[in-house]
Amino acid sequence: MVTVECPWCAEPADLEASSLDELACGACGISVELAPDPIEERIDRAA
Ligand SMILES: [Zn+2]
Repeated sequence: MVTVECPWCAEPADLEASSLDELACGACGISVELAPDPIEERIDRAA
């Protein structure tokens, strides 16, 4: 888990470190999926 600044409230938010595509902010009470990378790019990174 990586802590980043929430783009909505500027409080610390947790970014899923494994995929870097899910942002959860406790202050906002939200959990959002960021735009996923193209599947081909994910495969390249995993290899
Ligand atoms: Zn927030």
